[in-house]
Amino acid sequence: MVYPGGVTALDRVSLSIGQGELVGIVGPSGSGKSTLLAIMGTLDRPTSGAVHVDGRDVAGLTDRQLSRLRGHRLGFVFQQFHLTRGLSAADNVAAGLLYAGVPRRRRRPLALEALARVGLEHRVDHQPHQLSGGERQRVAIARALVNGPGLILADEPTGALDTRTGRAVLDLLVRLHAEGSTIAVITHDRDIAASLPRCVEIRDGRVVADSDDTAGR
Ligand code: ADP
Repeated sequence: MVYPGGVTALDRVSLSIGQGELVGIVGPSGSGKSTLLAIMGTLDRPTSGAVHVDGRDVAGLTDRQLSRLRGHRLGFVFQQFHLTRGLSAADNVAAGLLYAGVPRRRRRPLALEALARVGLEHRVDHQPHQLSGGERQRVAIARALVNGPGLILADEPTGALDTRTGRAVLDLLVRLHAEGSTIAVITHDRDIAASLPRCVEIRDGRVVADSDDTAGR
């Protein structure tokens, strides 16, 4: 991936994430992690190379088809939560169903179910400013998983949280993985990455280590 101006943010990266995996993608600031996430999440198109989601090359899809694909198959979690102010937790999560074309009357029950999965059944009508950082991130995770995505992409999900709260959010991702979710977690924290079942290390736009290689894949 080469940005306008000539920065090569990713260079000959080849990465495959299988169903049911929990992968940490670790690297220092500026190593290309966010670029990789944006490309995997079809938010950005690579200048060369290919991206396959569910085995399908996404290069031929229109922007509209891509946003449909994201709405149905991908979930996103960001460092700064990106919740909508003034909307309750339930409505924030239900917003994750808009692009999946779920009818209005089905959205709230599904949102409540997702909030229960992240342990927030007692906070469904709270607005973001009435929630702690850890709770906000749980709402964001509920929004990411509410449409039953094939892959959840989390960009520094613990980066804005204190160590203990961050650990709890990570434990939640580990539990969701145990329940069947496929998750990629981007982090600059080596301890976090090393604690995950698979760890991919990226530096200067290249994959320099993949713990899965030792598993013979
Ligand atoms: P990380 O997420 O690991 O901090 P990034 O993927 O954000 O790294 O950035 C990788 C490299 O690409 C950095 O050198 C950064 O300055 C550059 N970069 C990121 N986004 C852009 C952009 N939109 N335009 C130009 N250069 C960019």
